[in-house]
Amino acid sequence: MERAWRVRRQHDSAHHYIDRPFGGTALQESVQLTAKLFHFPMAQINLMDADLEYTIAAVGTGVGPMPRADSLCHQVVRDGKTLVLADIEHIPASARELDIQAYIGVPIVGREGLVVGTLCLLDTVPRPFSPQQILDLEAVAAVVRDQLELMRRLGPVPTGTAADSAALAGAVELGQIVPFYQPVVDLRSGEVRSIEALARWHHPDRGILMPAAFIPLAEDSDIIIDLDLAVIRQATIDLARWQRRTPDLRLNVNLSARHFDHLDCVSRLTGVVTSAGVSPESVNFEVTETAALAAHPGDRSFLGELRGRGFRIVLDDFGTGFSSMEQVMRLPIDGIKLDRSVTAALGSRVGDAVVRALLGLAGDLGFDTVIEGVETAEQAARARRSGCTHGQGFLFAAPLPANDVLDHLRSAG
Ligand code: C2E
Ligand code: MG
Ligand code: MG
Repeated sequence: MERAWRVRRQHDSAHHYIDRPFGGTALQESVQLTAKLFHFPMAQINLMDADLEYTIAAVGTGVGPMPRADSLCHQVVRDGKTLVLADIEHIPASARELDIQAYIGVPIVGREGLVVGTLCLLDTVPRPFSPQQILDLEAVAAVVRDQLELMRRLGPVPTGTAADSAALAGAVELGQIVPFYQPVVDLRSGEVRSIEALARWHHPDRGILMPAAFIPLAEDSDIIIDLDLAVIRQATIDLARWQRRTPDLRLNVNLSARHFDHLDCVSRLTGVVTSAGVSPESVNFEVTETAALAAHPGDRSFLGELRGRGFRIVLDDFGTGFSSMEQVMRLPIDGIKLDRSVTAALGSRVGDAVVRALLGLAGDLGFDTVIEGVETAEQAARARRSGCTHGQGFLFAAPLPANDVLDHLRSAG
């Protein structure tokens, strides 16, 4: 690609990430954990266009834009290569003024396949870097890239008014939030093993609304707790009916982190499930990494307590969070669901390697593995060959209204 054209394309690609407000704390948590893991006092996540470097998350330094030419990361973005400056001899004058004596920056590649920024570590004393440390930091940068990608895909976080929240709370109360159901299938036999309940809002004026239109607003307050409980209540009633035909059928339900702010959450969840006549052994709770970490306040382990009641815990959207490798191993969970951004990468050399590595880790730990967002037979085959046991996605079935589930179970055998 001609150089000026490439710079233009890189600039445009970076602006897909720069031009959106970064709500939430995920990037900040990532950069903090990076500094801690590598024992550096300073770390940054930077995006870079043709003129400026934007520090969007940082430990030990400020955030905000600065001229690209003054930035140590400029070279990393220009060359698309990791840059290591281990001692003062090699540090440019601009950084020496800041007392920086060691630097390592690794590129972050955007959706367009071009470098859009960096993850970097800085120190005021000279530091050697081992080849393994460089590889490790590059692996972390790949996870940061996934976080940025997820934020780009989700779009701006809607900020609802108090009236919107009141309308949503009313909808939960009136039974307008109902689950649709998407099968989770055994990748070898094609049999339906479980059904994930996914909330839909039957809005009186606007038709059926998808979770993206109301879950973020619900998550802003404890409305999400009542919403989740309403979905679980209806889904367990439906499951009890379907289990008469398919006794081993399981149910997957999504749990917000907010449940774990309440000491009685375990008994509340257990009560809703058992009052529908369903055994906790039939239910998988899906939690994201954020929720899984929130489930361990102080000495309590709500996940451990839920497992004690017989529920299984599945880590949702695996591969998009930062804590994946380091913290997942310590969590009391039974399985992981690989996020569909991971699925979409299948078929490329790197994508296949990442999936194999994640599944290898999960297998070693004895976790169940589900791959989400499977849209093609080829993805299913690749996932199966990489050792994944279960799949979910449009290839098998889109989320279905409750009335279509029995027909689907019959036709799927
Ligand atoms: P999730 O739990 O990761 O659910 C999977 C999402 O991927 C669903 O989106 C599903 O419709 C979609 N999907 C499934 N197969 C495919 C595929 O082959 N290709 C593509 N492109 N997408 C696929 P949905 O229903 O829009 O739900 C979005 C998210 O909203 C869920 O992600 C979950 O995090 C949240 N959510 C849904 N229902 C509830 C709920 O009752 N409580 C809570 N707390 N969160 C919920
Ligand atoms: Mg889920
Ligand atoms: Mg998911």
